[in-house]
Amino acid sequence: MATFLVALGAVTLISTAYGIGPCVEELADISVFPGESLYDNSTVVNNPAFADVLPAFVALPTTVEDVQRCLACAYQKSVPFTVKGGGHSAIGMSTIEGRENGAFVIYLSQMKSVEIANKFLVKVQAGARWEDVYDIVRETDYLVVGGICPSVGVAGYTLGGGFSFISRKYGLAIDTVHSMTMITVDGSQVVSVTKTTNADLFWALRGGGGGNFGVVVDFTFKLEPSFPSYEYGDMIIKDDNVEKALSAIGSMDLDQEVYLDFSIAPGNELHLAYVNLGHISRATGLKISILKELAWKHNDRKFNTYWELWKHHTTNVEYSRVENIPITVRATFLKTISPSMARILVELSVPANCFHSFIHLGGTIADYEHKYTAFFHRTANFEIYSTCSYSNDSERQESERYLLDIYSIMERSGETGGNYVNDPFLDLKNWQTMYYGYNYDRLLEIQKKWNPLDKGTYHYPLSIGSDYKPPMRRKHEHSEL
Ligand SMILES: Cc1cc2nc3c(=O)[nH]c(=O)nc-3n(C[C@H](O)[C@H](O)[C@H](O)COP(=O)(O)OP(=O)(O)OC[C@H]3O[C@@H](n4cnc5c(N)ncnc54)[C@H](O)[C@@H]3O)c2cc1C
Repeated sequence: MATFLVALGAVTLISTAYGIGPCVEELADISVFPGESLYDNSTVVNNPAFADVLPAFVALPTTVEDVQRCLACAYQKSVPFTVKGGGHSAIGMSTIEGRENGAFVIYLSQMKSVEIANKFLVKVQAGARWEDVYDIVRETDYLVVGGICPSVGVAGYTLGGGFSFISRKYGLAIDTVHSMTMITVDGSQVVSVTKTTNADLFWALRGGGGGNFGVVVDFTFKLEPSFPSYEYGDMIIKDDNVEKALSAIGSMDLDQEVYLDFSIAPGNELHLAYVNLGHISRATGLKISILKELAWKHNDRKFNTYWELWKHHTTNVEYSRVENIPITVRATFLKTISPSMARILVELSVPANCFHSFIHLGGTIADYEHKYTAFFHRTANFEIYSTCSYSNDSERQESERYLLDIYSIMERSGETGGNYVNDPFLDLKNWQTMYYGYNYDRLLEIQKKWNPLDKGTYHYPLSIGSDYKPPMRRKHEHSEL
């Protein structure tokens, strides 16, 4: 990182190349600037579609006081900024264009300590990624509800809800949050957030999405018991059996110890992995056998620890969410996969650059009421998450058309229901209700108290309270799918 003096040198450079932002001098001692390799590293985001969106500088706070300074400066001088955790937002929410107006990124990567607070709790600074947390928790006899992908940031993931392999057993990541520390948007206060202290924030920060109420600097999660052994299987299902398997999955009432991870890949193959936490009923065992019978090939393995299983999955199975390629994304929750939805899904004719992956919900997630946390969609049984990668503008447009077509067909089936705020896209109509259902009104009240729209610059198109209107969808003939 630049020293203060070097950074002041950079300020001179910036004055010609990028213009001096009102916070440059004040934050120079903790910031990196264009021309420095750390700036280049710090501005990388998971979806390179946003690689050209570059801030005036990146602040790299190492302490809570540093974060307060960043927020105070932005607030007092009306400088736009954004906060970056793991940088996985599919729509580039953790970068900001600042070359004209001095907008900057507060990147929390230097604040990533992970401590086992006592036998049942782990305290994580907000700049950690899930791999940092797993490195520590795997040394204990416990599990933590966290991201399937190791590089996903703890902060963005948790603030939106957080689905995990073990969510059907232990709930969403937000259901395991014990407490948080948040800095207010003007940087003046460091507030403790628990069930009983600032209870409104404790509700809103669990599912309301990143970038809304303040900057969270740490999370404390409950640890969950591990299991004596774990079973894992992966399989490929082809041709006519894909529709049969999808219908079967939709009708299966599986034990909460079982999680299905599956994708419809190009060639309309179904790639499916199941995670079994070891104790399942005979009925669930039989249902998994049905899937194996439909498989063209399958492998089963046993693991002694969850971490071995997770490592095996993330290193051996084609990961369902792409990294380092520009992508366009669409996603929605599905109530179930009925036979008619299975038919729609097998008729998708997945192009070579796209695939559709499914997150298996239900189980303990659905034991909580819609209003228990800001995460509304408790009764969805699956999320379908579709990505298409592209290498030029015409491929991007073609992919967007493809996704728009198939999502319109799914919506018309009446079996979709709402969207996950952590898998956002920018042309979602009625986004307030689609993300938050009737929890939106309460979120608005809490936003007014902690981050009023007429004050400060911590406001984005998809923030609570924003009057953002998505662009009109194009009217076009649906292509043959
Ligand atoms: C490869 C990949 C795998 C994924 N796997 C999963 C998965 O297994 N389960 C799941 O539920 N989701 C998953 N997701 C979705 C993921 O939860 C979201 O993309 C999430 O926003 C990522 O968090 P982040 O910190 O990495 O992102 P960032 O882009 O850094 O942040 C996302 C949003 O949160 C805000 N934010 C970040 N830090 C803070 C903070 N400290 N305080 C306040 N606001 C903050 C940012 O400003 C931004 O608006 C995955 C996404 C990808 C790309």
